Amino acid sequence: MSRASSDIQSIAVIGAGIIGLASALELADRGVRVTLYEKQWPPRGASWAAAGMLAPAFEAAAAPGTHPRLFELCDKSARLWSDWASRLETRSGRSAGYFPGPSLAIAHTEEQAALLRAVSNKLSDHDLAPQDCLSRLEDVEPSIEAPARGALLLPSDGQADNRATLKALVACAEAHEGINIQKREASIRETSRGIDHAGHDATLITAGWRSAKVAFNQGEGASDVSALDPVFDHIVAFGGQMLAVAPVKHGPRLTVRCGHIYIVPKADRIIIGATTEPGRTSLEPEPSTIASLHRAAAEICPALANAEILEAWAGIRPGTKNHAPILGETSTPRLFVAAGHFRNGILLAPLTAKIMADLIIDQNSSALARAFSPQARYAEQL
Ligand SMILES: Cc1cc2nc3c(=O)[nH]c(=O)nc-3n(C[C@H](O)[C@H](O)[C@H](O)COP(=O)(O)OP(=O)(O)OC[C@H]3O[C@@H](n4cnc5c(N)ncnc54)[C@H](O)[C@@H]3O)c2cc1C
Repeated sequence: MSRASSDIQSIAVIGAGIIGLASALELADRGVRVTLYEKQWPPRGASWAAAGMLAPAFEAAAAPGTHPRLFELCDKSARLWSDWASRLETRSGRSAGYFPGPSLAIAHTEEQAALLRAVSNKLSDHDLAPQDCLSRLEDVEPSIEAPARGALLLPSDGQADNRATLKALVACAEAHEGINIQKREASIRETSRGIDHAGHDATLITAGWRSAKVAFNQGEGASDVSALDPVFDHIVAFGGQMLAVAPVKHGPRLTVRCGHIYIVPKADRIIIGATTEPGRTSLEPEPSTIASLHRAAAEICPALANAEILEAWAGIRPGTKNHAPILGETSTPRLFVAAGHFRNGILLAPLTAKIMADLIIDQNSSALARAFSPQARYAEQL
């Protein structure tokens, strides 16, 4: 599997969600010729459907079974976001939609309050430690009227208008001389000399929840990339339903989370989310689910009760069992994967792009990056 440093001069990147676009740009900026394959143009996968929270804090107190270093990965990427967004804006001439923190997390039940305490304890010696703001909640976020059992301001947690980010990334990719965009499905083939990367030196699969389904061979012997490495089978779908309402008078200024409900104000709409439904792959939102999300948000922020619904949708998070992405070279040499970012793909885009370019171009990976490699997943059965 070892190869000479920098011997990858061209690469096929499959999927133009935020992970594929960010990786393609980073690789092309470092001199690799990229062909970017996207079967739906403009791209409208999870990266379009997301709420855009850049929220590492809750990963610090994530449920058992979550990858033990996921918070570290999220925290590191959160710190790259501001510069990354500025560079995208300069290059594309468009807004990348970035808003720095803080966000607000509130608790209405004892269980939610316990989670806030756990987050606070875990992050107490962190340079962006949360602040208890229960006693001054009215000043911090006047739109929250319901009595809360706990309230934390999370300076680490910003947000991005992910649709603006995606458009800025697309504009950068379209303008980049080193990126050739192919608006079609990509297929990998096997030849007598090994894998044919569509005429490139390597392939990077970033096809979101469909990563395991990327076609391998055509006609007789047709299969998907899981046949090359079962690590792809770890990437599965987690559906999520959300809605957007029009901005309202006395609406929230900050991103507000309470239990599984979050309210994320953007410049022109307010996002209300979300369900997390393992295995759901329908893109059709259910009216009753959307109505119940809207009601739950209005219990937290009463001004939202009569807000006009602008849009309701369902998206599909590419997840894994331990909620962490898989980043690295598979057991098939020169076949790379960056997928399975679950609820943090928008947050993790800048760091994922860097990790993949360091590995593909320089064969260089940090201990943190190696903890998310396909090899780590096998070794530790994560
Ligand atoms: C409801 C919801 C809320 C979310 N909220 C947040 C949040 O607040 N913060 C956060 O950080 N993350 C959030 N996420 C998660 C985040 O959206 C994902 O982790 C991230 O977008 C994954 O990016 P991706 O590029 O891997 O996948 P995608 O954006 O799905 O992109 C994959 C692309 O690959 C293409 N493709 C698939 N197969 C092929 C093929 N064979 N050939 C060519 N192209 C192909 C698809 O068309 C698609 O465009 C949310 C997700 C959902 C659904």
